[in-house]
Amino acid sequence: MPDLLSQIHNRIQIFHQSPETLNLVAWKLSICSISQKDFLKKLQKLWQMPEKHLLKQCMMQDSEYMTVGVKNKISILLQLVKEAVVGAGTAGSVLAARLSEDPRVQVLLLEAGDKETDRPETPFITTPGLAKQLRNSSVDWKYFTQPQENALFGYKNKQAALPRGKVIGGTFALNDMIYQRGSPGIFDEWDKKGAKGWGFKHVAPYFRKSVDTKVIELSKSDLHRSCGPMTVSTLQPTSLLNVYFNATQSLGYDAINCNEKEDQGICRIQTNIRGGERLTTAKAYLNEARGRQNLNIVTKALVSRVS
Ligand SMILES: Cc1cc2nc3c(=O)[nH]c(=O)nc-3n(C[C@H](O)[C@H](O)[C@H](O)COP(=O)(O)OP(=O)(O)OC[C@H]3O[C@@H](n4cnc5c(N)ncnc54)[C@H](O)[C@@H]3O)c2cc1C
Repeated sequence: MPDLLSQIHNRIQIFHQSPETLNLVAWKLSICSISQKDFLKKLQKLWQMPEKHLLKQCMMQDSEYMTVGVKNKISILLQLVKEAVVGAGTAGSVLAARLSEDPRVQVLLLEAGDKETDRPETPFITTPGLAKQLRNSSVDWKYFTQPQENALFGYKNKQAALPRGKVIGGTFALNDMIYQRGSPGIFDEWDKKGAKGWGFKHVAPYFRKSVDTKVIELSKSDLHRSCGPMTVSTLQPTSLLNVYFNATQSLGYDAINCNEKEDQGICRIQTNIRGGERLTTAKAYLNEARGRQNLNIVTKALVSRVS
């Protein structure tokens, strides 16, 4: 067993702090992973250990074996999976969902935080405008700047919060939900400077593919469509908005549509809100993918090393 453990440690270290977490992970893995018999066979094959010896290990009831068992299972999953994605945040949720569209690809998604539903913070995640309440909560990594000598005079300890989401959905679970693509010119500049394949003509089809636009002015645009997973909508206009628009136009700024070809002017912001609720990429992509046999999502799994 020490050999096996060190192999696991060398491959990836995942720390689960409490027995409850271990049990939870064991339970989650047992739903999505292989049967006990297959598990032993894989172990035996992977590390050439006699089955009798492994069986004996499995019979042991002590918590140490439990730890070993969970680590083994994660390790086995890592051997079986083709892709392991660390972090079920904005990018990780899309990546895991897209990779698992191919049923032949086994995908393991590891998230340090917990689920985003059925928890006290959930209403603050889903309701637009309440995310500030999540700062310093259990779904925030609770990062702060260093105390500043010449700034942040009005802040406690002269430190500002740097919110980052620690939950399924990641920072999207507590951000401002503004949907704003990068300027076409900037992507083209990247391509020109050596990031080949990152020009606007290359990325535009993917932007288009991802959106479900409810913005009427964009319904006929070839840069948008209305059947993708990420709903994009605008907020209800207010009388103050009209005053603001008139004021900026009088200063010479053109009124444009956000996320169209022109990138200089004044436009109404677009947001990722669906049915009055925040739409994270986890909700838009992962919710549908969760039922797939080839996608395993493990929460409270803090990855400390990728080798
Ligand atoms: C207050 C605020 C407002 C914002 N407003 C907007 C906005 O309106 N529009 C916009 O486009 N952008 C906005 N942003 C920025 C945007 O939210 C982020 O750029 C984006 O969410 C980052 O995505 P990501 O996938 O890189 O990281 P994240 O979404 O943060 O995902 C990272 C995930 O990895 C997990 N993780 C981290 N380390 C580990 C580990 N060791 N093991 C396992 N899991 C781990 C985290 O828990 C998290 O779930 C805002 C950001 C903030 C802070």
